Amino acid sequence: MKILENYNLKNHNTLGVDCYCDQFAQISSLSDLESLPKDIKITEMLIMGTGSNILFTEDLNRFVVQFKPRKYITVVDNLVVAWAGTPWNDLVTWAINKNLGGIENLALIPGLVGAAPFQNIGAYGVELQDSLVWVEVYNWHTGLYHRLSNEECMFSYRHSIFKYHDQPWIISRIGLDLRSDHPVNISYQPLQDKFAGLSQTPSYKKVAQAVTEIRQSKLPDPYQVHNAGSFFKNPVIDPQIAQRIQRRHKDLPLFETKHCPDQKTSAAWLLEQCGFKGHREGDAGFYDKHALILVNHGSASGQELLKMSKMAKRAVKIKFGIKLEEEVRVL
Ligand SMILES: Cc1cc2nc3c(=O)[nH]c(=O)nc-3n(C[C@H](O)[C@H](O)[C@H](O)COP(=O)(O)OP(=O)(O)OC[C@H]3O[C@@H](n4cnc5c(N)ncnc54)[C@H](O)[C@@H]3O)c2cc1C
Repeated sequence: MKILENYNLKNHNTLGVDCYCDQFAQISSLSDLESLPKDIKITEMLIMGTGSNILFTEDLNRFVVQFKPRKYITVVDNLVVAWAGTPWNDLVTWAINKNLGGIENLALIPGLVGAAPFQNIGAYGVELQDSLVWVEVYNWHTGLYHRLSNEECMFSYRHSIFKYHDQPWIISRIGLDLRSDHPVNISYQPLQDKFAGLSQTPSYKKVAQAVTEIRQSKLPDPYQVHNAGSFFKNPVIDPQIAQRIQRRHKDLPLFETKHCPDQKTSAAWLLEQCGFKGHREGDAGFYDKHALILVNHGSASGQELLKMSKMAKRAVKIKFGIKLEEEVRVL
């Protein structure tokens, strides 16, 4: 494993931001993991996949470990086991080609398998936690592996135990329960519209294809237009606040949440109401077809993107009294 000094991460984050780190190493195997220095403090380490959910705002005095994309998937005891460096969409494609259901709604989410439990990736009514059985972590201080069950991962909406950053853990593999009799979930309106009039239940492959088409029509390809997907989470709001807002904005979108009795609203809608859809200052802005996507149109710095995100957050707080929370990890 080669360690590079003073390395620029510009090509390793989909927002395309310049950011130098003290040291950088790419890993592609368990033996690479095991050869990492054991004395690095938690605050001095950063584990990365493809950087599709990170905004760098300053240079990092850290040792950055990046999983080199490399597909490795096996079946052990009826569970699908995937190496952290496996591109997430390769795992989805592998599963649907074997007619195994459970993650087809998560097609085309960028990034690697190792990052998926970090924020409990989700889309179109499905989350990773719905099919995940365990997460294997490597403790770089002790050199030991440890398995966390689904419950131990403390999953919730875009959240997990891994976000606390208080353990020297690197996610190395995950085990998923994917089955050929897994019920198809087309409850989300855009999927219902796609399959309207179909008498049979669509196959996992058809669902993944439909999700892919919908995503491609709405979201910019991060390798063409620099972005990190949804910049903020959809906020969960108290029913009284929802009622108050609805008095002035009858079209406030509200939807049920899996994780608590309160309802969620659309962060994209809130940002659009505040005029941020397509808003741009220099090279920092929000996508013109989707207000939730912070975009680097060229050579915006991390600080400029951060400033734009803070401006949007403040505007939503003033207009609606709602505090947006970042989905993207800001460093
Ligand atoms: C266009 C676009 C659309 C997107 N759509 C969705 C979506 O629909 N749903 C969704 O949930 N997300 C979505 N995302 C966000 C992103 O793709 C996911 O969060 C993805 O899981 C990040 O993968 P990554 O490999 O790029 O991780 P990175 O961005 O490199 O890392 C993300 C976080 O995970 C940690 N991490 C990464 N690998 C490991 C590891 N092996 N061990 C421990 N920690 C690790 C990092 O430290 C970091 O905090 C989208 C992003 C883009 C650009």
